[in-house]
Amino acid sequence: MTGVPHLIRTHDNVFFFDAAAEGRLEFQRCTDCNALRHPPGPACPECRSFEWDTVVSTRLGTLHSWTVLHHPKDDAFDYPLGVALVDLEEGTRFVADMSGFDLDALEIGMEVEIGFGEHAHGEILPRVFPRGEAEGVGK
Ligand SMILES: [Zn+2]
Repeated sequence: MTGVPHLIRTHDNVFFFDAAAEGRLEFQRCTDCNALRHPPGPACPECRSFEWDTVVSTRLGTLHSWTVLHHPKDDAFDYPLGVALVDLEEGTRFVADMSGFDLDALEIGMEVEIGFGEHAHGEILPRVFPRGEAEGVGK
């Protein structure tokens, strides 16, 4: 796995990676207007507040869209690689690799859930699974 970069942890995203390592999917919530947001960032896109805390997701959602990557190949992934855009129950959208799907039988709106899997360098990251088939930390 040489050439695969390590995750870049910042003040704004360390909560996300630490939660994933423990089997939780967490999002930022603005403590001024309560807007949820992902990916992590320093300021609320709705009201520009820098004040936030986190909420734990149910990890349940539906498939909003997807793409299947064939190249260029990166040592960190298996190909063909499905990448999903998921509408989570909380109302946030989430992008992650797909596991356990027949990539030729995907349908918009199908029920999915977020599990976890080991990525390059041993990092635990969220992955999208068919509903009821999530794997990873705590499952
Ligand atoms: Zn806000």
